[in-house]
Amino acid sequence: MRQDGWKGGDEGRFVRKIAPLDELDELDNLGPPPRLPLIRFCGAPGCRRRARPGGRHCPGCHMAAVRRWREEHRRELAVRRRDAAAARDDDARARDSGRAKLAMALRRGTLERGRCRECGAREVVGVIADPADWRAVAWVCREHRETELGRRRDAAAQHAADAKQAAWYDERTRVLAAIELLPPAERARLHALATRGPAGTPLSPGAPLYVMNLVRAYRGSRR
Ligand SMILES: [Zn+2]
Ligand SMILES: [Zn+2]
Repeated sequence: MRQDGWKGGDEGRFVRKIAPLDELDELDNLGPPPRLPLIRFCGAPGCRRRARPGGRHCPGCHMAAVRRWREEHRRELAVRRRDAAAARDDDARARDSGRAKLAMALRRGTLERGRCRECGAREVVGVIADPADWRAVAWVCREHRETELGRRRDAAAQHAADAKQAAWYDERTRVLAAIELLPPAERARLHALATRGPAGTPLSPGAPLYVMNLVRAYRGSRR
């Protein structure tokens, strides 16, 4: 039999005491009561199910409340949806159309969801690269969706950089050809401008910066 015991309420304050044997109370030997798990019940009248974590209602009552709210605000929601749809640009419109066609194909069963192409997971979302070619959808799990989107962003950035580079080469070729047709004095003036490098160092005619200066000088003279 223990010579010490638990005293006090919830905290189970531990009090060491030495009591004479004839004063021992059987209850002194009991530990503190186990903590009861905190259960919150659904707030809906008459419902005895448990509330969702962090929510006031059980999943069933919550869904019913959401449905009721949508039904009551049907008109405002429709207006908001219509306004949002009208405000879309062409790209957003094309994306929405591609998504809608994919959803329809899945409902009709003409197209099936695949597995995640990175890890083979069954829970997948579709990523459409080109809305015009929505059948070429990439199936990825939520986790690999970020990987996929990152890859697409990189590809798009690379594409934009390539296009800019190509546009510059076109412009350069066009301007150099035009300079060749200028009167010699004007040509000499532009070449003199192009020689001026940063901090006064002269540039040689083969340097990339020389060519850029030349094109800029030509554009400036056209204004
Ligand atoms: Zn409920
Ligand atoms: Zn995955």
